[in-house]
Amino acid sequence: MRTINSKLITDTVRALCIKANIELRKDVLLALRRARKKETNSKARRILDIIIQNALIAKEKRLPICQDTGMVVSYLKIGQDIKIKGDIRKAILEGIANAYRDGYFRKSIVQDPLIRKNTNTNLPPVIYTKIVPGNKMDIRVIVKGFGSENSSRTKMFRPTDPSSLIEDFVVRVVRESGSKSCPPLYIGIGIGGTLDKAVSLSKEAILRPVGNYNKAPHIARLEKRLFKKVNNLKIGPMGMGGKTTALGVSVLTYPTHIAGLPVAVNISCHATRDAGKVV
Ligand code: SF4
Repeated sequence: MRTINSKLITDTVRALCIKANIELRKDVLLALRRARKKETNSKARRILDIIIQNALIAKEKRLPICQDTGMVVSYLKIGQDIKIKGDIRKAILEGIANAYRDGYFRKSIVQDPLIRKNTNTNLPPVIYTKIVPGNKMDIRVIVKGFGSENSSRTKMFRPTDPSSLIEDFVVRVVRESGSKSCPPLYIGIGIGGTLDKAVSLSKEAILRPVGNYNKAPHIARLEKRLFKKVNNLKIGPMGMGGKTTALGVSVLTYPTHIAGLPVAVNISCHATRDAGKVV
């Protein structure tokens, strides 16, 4: 049994929240550069140049990539042979609050969704935990902007519905999001499980590096078809037209009930931000 001090978790979460807000994911930056090379629309090329330049300046000057520094969603894979000295939830919350205070990041969380008073700490986050074999802890944080979160959707399909209806749904969600979600997008899709499982899968799907496909060949084919279809919408970077509406589509699936087919679409923007570390 290995003992981890909760201070290590606090410091790690703080560092990850700062990194995620300041350094654009390498795979996202690479995908933006690839898209820039292929793009033929001059306005779209110009916007992609600005987005890439913005990411480079943010990293160099240690400034946030976007003014919306997001709601923190943290994923913890906790080895079953770890003993934590201290309060793990408190440690995570402290790490986030420290990052948002020290980084001068915008605090965007309201305590009560209807009364809407800002907590001024960017707390609380959404925390998902998974118990895994081993004596290590994998900590990952997403900082999720809500321009794109607001365009995300879910739908319960009939189990007999063909894949084409799911594809139409995804394309409709992207079309309706238009420029509001700050394209080019990374589109996470969850299929299966229960309503809530599909939604959590769709968020987890954006953790996969852009350009990597699902290992199941039929799902990889679905991802490629959807990628083509959403780019044919010609919304383009920040809605300025061109063929770069999405940088990628990532689908995760889970077994489901014989009577159902839940599907969730989580839209993530060109500032798709997360960072992770194993301690
Ligand atoms: S959708 Fe993304 S890029 Fe647009 S404002 Fe929100 S976080 Fe920033």
